[in-house]
Amino acid sequence: MHELGITQGIIDRAREAAQANGALRVTDLFVTMTPAADFTQDSIEMYFEMLAGEDEFFRGATLHFDHQPVAATCLTCSDEFSTDAPQPACPQCRCWCNSTRRRRWSSSPM
Ligand SMILES: [Zn+2]
Repeated sequence: MHELGITQGIIDRAREAAQANGALRVTDLFVTMTPAADFTQDSIEMYFEMLAGEDEFFRGATLHFDHQPVAATCLTCSDEFSTDAPQPACPQCRCWCNSTRRRRWSSSPM
């Protein structure tokens, strides 16, 4: 049920933003997914249909998913690289330590 809370959060934030801009309803929602996200697109879509179907404000709205690469830092050799894999291997030392620290590209200069 983890994704249900996430989906509800997406809807709440979208409603807030839409109402702040005087919108009467939402027709399209853009969700940015990163490989670090611990939920799947399918379950978000499923819960969104469930929640939006009962919600006048979101009924018939379309979800759009955008997949962004993330910046990762290898904790073994400190190499920084970008990846769109959920569990990236370090391109430098080839370690698969699965303990890379990830952050969004948008928070760092390209
Ligand atoms: Zn490494």
